Amino acid sequence: MKRILIANRGEIALRVLRACRDLGLSPAVVYSDADRDSLPVRLADAAVAIGPAPAAESYLNIDAILEAARRAGADAVHPGYGFLAENPKFARACADAGFVFIGPPAQAMALVGDKVEARRLMKKRGVPVIPGLTERAADLETFRKFARRAGYPIILKAAAGGGGKGMRVVRAEGELESAFRGARSEAKSAFGDDGVYAEKLLENVRHVEIQVLADGKGLAVHLGERECSVQRRHQKLIEEGPSVALGPKLRRAMGELALEVVKASGYRNAGTVEFLLDGDGNPYFMEVNARIQVEHPVTEMITGIDLVRAQIAIAAGEPLSIRQESIKPRGWAIECRIIAEDPEQGFRPSPGRIAALRVPAGPGIRVETALQQGETVSLYYDPLVAKLIAWGRDRAEAIARMRRALDEFLISGIRTTIPFHRQVMDDAEFAAGRIDIGWCDRALPRLSAALAGPGRDAEAAAIAAALAAHLEAGRTVAAEPGNAVSPWVLDGRRALMQGRVLPRA
Ligand code: ADP
Repeated sequence: MKRILIANRGEIALRVLRACRDLGLSPAVVYSDADRDSLPVRLADAAVAIGPAPAAESYLNIDAILEAARRAGADAVHPGYGFLAENPKFARACADAGFVFIGPPAQAMALVGDKVEARRLMKKRGVPVIPGLTERAADLETFRKFARRAGYPIILKAAAGGGGKGMRVVRAEGELESAFRGARSEAKSAFGDDGVYAEKLLENVRHVEIQVLADGKGLAVHLGERECSVQRRHQKLIEEGPSVALGPKLRRAMGELALEVVKASGYRNAGTVEFLLDGDGNPYFMEVNARIQVEHPVTEMITGIDLVRAQIAIAAGEPLSIRQESIKPRGWAIECRIIAEDPEQGFRPSPGRIAALRVPAGPGIRVETALQQGETVSLYYDPLVAKLIAWGRDRAEAIARMRRALDEFLISGIRTTIPFHRQVMDDAEFAAGRIDIGWCDRALPRLSAALAGPGRDAEAAAIAAALAAHLEAGRTVAAEPGNAVSPWVLDGRRALMQGRVLPRA
C-alpha cells in the first residue's frame, strides 16, 4: 500500500490522514462542494471532488468514490465512520475494483450489520443477548404476544438500524401500533429496509462496549471497555474508559464474550461489540459496530495503541503484532462530543460560521477536530465538530483536566455542547460514576437550570464592561504608537482590576 483514499470528511478524515502520515503512506481525500476549503483537503497529498454538498450526491455515492480512488492512484480505501463505512455493497465494490478496503470483509459486515441475524448467531453460540425476538416481524400480533410475555416496556428496533434511527420505546399496548408504523417507515427511509423486531427495554443499565482487533488469520485481542452511558435520545455524548462498573473478572469475561462474537462472525479488522450491563453485572449482547468508532481515542489513550494504524496494518495483510498479555490499560480517559447544538435550547441544531476558535491543550488533553476559523458548519452533515479527550492517572484527574480544557475551549459563531459538558463535569452523580443510560435524561432538568444560571453571560458582561471602561477613558480605537498592547485590552484589564468584571469562578 502506498496511497490511501479517505472516503470521509471532518475530524475522522483528518484522523485517518494523520495515521497515514505516521506510517509513511500518502493520504488522498474526497470532498464535496461544501468541503473544498476543509483542513483534510489542505493537508492531503491529493484531493478529488466528488459532487455537491448533499451526502447522497457525494459521500454516499459509491461510483463517484471509486472513480476518485482511481484518479488519485490509490490502492486502498478507508471509509472512516458513518456514510459508507458499514455498507457491505461498498466494501465489496472496493474489493471488486481492486482496492483494499480498510475494514471487515463484506460478508462479516453484512452478517453483523443485521441486528436480527447477529442476535440469532450469538444466541446459538451461547452469548447472552437482550431478551427479545430473533426474527423480523411484519405483523402487530407477534409484537403484542412478545410484549405480553416479556412485559412492557419494550423497544422496537430496525434490523438494519444505526444511529438510533427506527427505534421506538413502547410503554403500553395502546402505543404499540403507532410505534410499529413509525419504526417501520423510519427504517424504510433511513436504510431502505423496513425490517423491525423487538427487545425488552432494559432500564437502569449501562452501555459498555469492548474494542477488538482481529487479523483474520486467527489472532484477535480485546482492548478493554468503554462506558458510553451518558446518552441523549439513545445517542452517545460522553464516553470513558475504563468503566467504574467493571472489575478485573467481569472485564476478562466480557472481553472473552467479545472475542466469541468475533470468531462466530468471521470478523476482521477493528470492531466494537456493544453490551448493556445490568446492576448485577450481567452483560447482554446488543450489536457489533463494524468500523472505527467515534470514541476510539478513549481506548487509544489508555492502551497507547493507535487503532487506525492497526486497521491499516491488518488490511495490508500483516499479522497482529499485539498480544493479549501486553495490553495493560493505564489511567482513565474521558471523551466529550462537542456538537453544534444549543444545550440551552433543547439541543437545537446551531449551524453557522466559526468566528473565533481557541483549542485547548496541555497535560493529558487531546483534541480531534478539523474545524478552522472562518469555516461554516452546515446542516448537511453530522453536527459533531470536535472531540475533546482528557486523560488522567485516575478518573478524578481526568475529570479535572476535562474541566480545565472545556474552560479553555472557545468556539464562537455557533452554539455547542461545551457548556453542557462543563455542567456534567461538576455533577456529583457523574463524579461518583453513578450513571446509566437513563441518567442524562433524568439529570437534564438540573443541568439545564445550571446552564441558564449566573455565569452564563459572563463573557458578554466582560465585553460590555471593557467597552464601557474604554469609552470612559475616551480613547480612540487605534493603538498608540510604540504600544504593542491594544487599548481595548488595557481597558479590559483595568475594568477587571476595578472589580467591574469578575473573573469566572
Ligand atoms: P443504533 O445502532 O441505532 O445506535 P443500538 O442498538 O446501538 O442502536 O442502541 C443505541 C442505544 O439505545 C443503546 O446504547 C441504549 O442506550 C439504547 N438501547 C438499545 N436497545 C435497548 C434495550 N433493549 N433496552 C434499553 N435501551 C436500549
